[in-house]
Amino acid sequence: MVLIENVEKAQEALRGHLRVCDSAVAFTGAGLSTECGIPDFRSADSAWRRHPPIPFKDFVDDPDARALAWRRKFAMDDLTAGAQPGRGHRALTRLMEDGIVRSIVTQNIDGLHQAAGAPADRIVELHGNGGYATCLSCGCRHELKDVRPRFEASGAAPECACGGAVKSATVAFGQKMPQEALRRARAASLDCDLFLAIGTSLVVYPAAAFPVLAKENGAALVIVNGEATPLDQTADLVLRGDIGAILAPFALHAEK
Ligand code: NAD
Repeated sequence: MVLIENVEKAQEALRGHLRVCDSAVAFTGAGLSTECGIPDFRSADSAWRRHPPIPFKDFVDDPDARALAWRRKFAMDDLTAGAQPGRGHRALTRLMEDGIVRSIVTQNIDGLHQAAGAPADRIVELHGNGGYATCLSCGCRHELKDVRPRFEASGAAPECACGGAVKSATVAFGQKMPQEALRRARAASLDCDLFLAIGTSLVVYPAAAFPVLAKENGAALVIVNGEATPLDQTADLVLRGDIGAILAPFALHAEK
């Protein structure tokens, strides 16, 4: 493993990997979006620590927990309203346009890859999307602009016309992962020769298994993150520093 902490040297090393690869996958986490004003999960001062997410079982079993989950969801939405893609999102979109990054597998639920112009069909959302809700019984989609006023007027957790509980379309702790997203993430990990893990603490499983899968299948593994991760020793290259600063030039010129 090579560790680089100098920004210019990190960019040079990353450029070297991008130049020789045929097909890269970007695997992104909450650290990509912190510069956009969306707190990550594990940093010490994170809003998520003060208001931990409600486990899925509690959401299903307990109407009060459901209502609390919705209150926290809307409070977090207010905190992050108007967030725009950052330098990392723009760099990855540019690398996709240049045919270098083939797909983005993200743990993020903020929709900022799509907002940065990455094609939706090449984004795999492992943990869902916080921009809408679904019924846990019939699966139908509910828009937040309809759910919120009803919730705020009644204080009761929203229900679908079928009687099912309506939940943000994200994957809660203890909730089954979306099988099609897992399948696509696995296929992408096995079909790349460069795997870029960016802005993730790499401790959430099964998501964090994909970098290992790609590496064991022969891909080079590059980790870009502000702090050490459990997979640093497995990686070929670890670029430690601010993601936006490291990726900024790739948004401008992503030459091969
Ligand atoms: P995490 O919070 O566990 O790890 C984020 C990592 O990014 C940390 O190691 C942190 O040091 C690093 N980081 C933060 N800002 C950085 C910066 N500017 N430059 C360099 N490094 C930076 O995030 P995770 O691994 O993605 O797991 C969190 C889980 O919570 C995910 O499952 C995700 O679904 C959810 N989540 C999503 C969002 C989002 O959609 N933006 C935000 C918070 C949590």
